[in-house]
Amino acid sequence: MSTVRVPFLNMKAPYQELKAELDAAYQRVMESGWYILGEEMEAFENEYATYCGAKDCISVGNGLEALHLILRAYEIGPGDEVIVPANTYIATWLAVSYAGATPIPVEPDLRTYNLDPDRIERAITKRTRAILPVHLYGQSAEMEAITRIAQKHGLKVIDDSAQAHGARFNDQIASGFADAAGVSFYPGKNLGAFGDAGAVVTNDPGLADRVRVLRNYGSRVKYQNEVKGFNSRLDPIQAAFLRVKLAHLDEWNDRRKAVAARYLEALSNIHELVLPYVLPHSSPAWHLFVIRHPRREALQRHLTQAGIGTLIHYPTPPHLSAAYAELGWKVGDFPITEEIANTVLSIPMGPHLSRDEQDEVISALQSFA
Ligand SMILES: *Cc1c(COP(=O)(O)O)cnc(C)c1O
Repeated sequence: MSTVRVPFLNMKAPYQELKAELDAAYQRVMESGWYILGEEMEAFENEYATYCGAKDCISVGNGLEALHLILRAYEIGPGDEVIVPANTYIATWLAVSYAGATPIPVEPDLRTYNLDPDRIERAITKRTRAILPVHLYGQSAEMEAITRIAQKHGLKVIDDSAQAHGARFNDQIASGFADAAGVSFYPGKNLGAFGDAGAVVTNDPGLADRVRVLRNYGSRVKYQNEVKGFNSRLDPIQAAFLRVKLAHLDEWNDRRKAVAARYLEALSNIHELVLPYVLPHSSPAWHLFVIRHPRREALQRHLTQAGIGTLIHYPTPPHLSAAYAELGWKVGDFPITEEIANTVLSIPMGPHLSRDEQDEVISALQSFA
């Protein structure tokens, strides 16, 4: 085995860079004696809503729960259909399933990997209640076109912003286009906690109120339960860490942008290699830098031998996952999604990837024949 010279993502670097601030946040919460809900959590909610240019942020346990609680709050459930990208991480579909509704997959645009607006209307039926686009790999989905379709058919737009903290379209934060957005603060995301965490971002005050009740046992006042709610809350300790990291998000995203710009330039002439496509007016958060190659397995082996960490996002699309066998989809049903799953490769990307490491990635890719 070759040794790892450039890890796919350096998970320790955020703590190393922000140690003093994070240690102070830890001490503040530990000494406060307050460990569920409370001021620290509310302060983070206000700061993240402001960052997104949204009216409200309701923190929850994780990104999957954020999407699930939005669907519950809109009373989308058994018998309802929700349009989801065929090409996404399975959590998007699972949120729909947990609510009791059925995910209806729609193929992506092969250039952006995001939901193709031109294919959405064909999938709409009398049972459709919402469209759930994902800003995959950190680039905003085509929200203007999606919103137009949703308005025409009276559907909610709920977006999965798990990979898109700080992504912009026409200078607006991507999460601000939908009725409500589900956000994940899983440690590896652009804004990551040190454990599980998530949030709902919305301009809909009614939705915000219902999610707030649902996340806390269906209760507004202690021991008065309006509905059968859930326990899905953001720990104040994670809120305190996220407040520290939120202050650095734009700067860290700028570092990702610089890495992306470098890759895009240096890798532009490699035979058969497909680079990420950025839509006009779009400013991705570069959560991942995803390339495609017809001989993906050989390329991944070559990079591994050169000590470069890579991952595949995602090797099995949800419609072919054992978890969704019940829906009866088979190979060939979503050919664009399957083509993506068979050819994508994510190369190292992050705010702590040094110039030397970037050089190693670039030269390893250039030496693949
Ligand atoms: C990470 C992720 C989620 C789920 O977030 P968790 O916090 O892990 O529950 C949902 N959708 C997408 C696209 C993701 O990348």
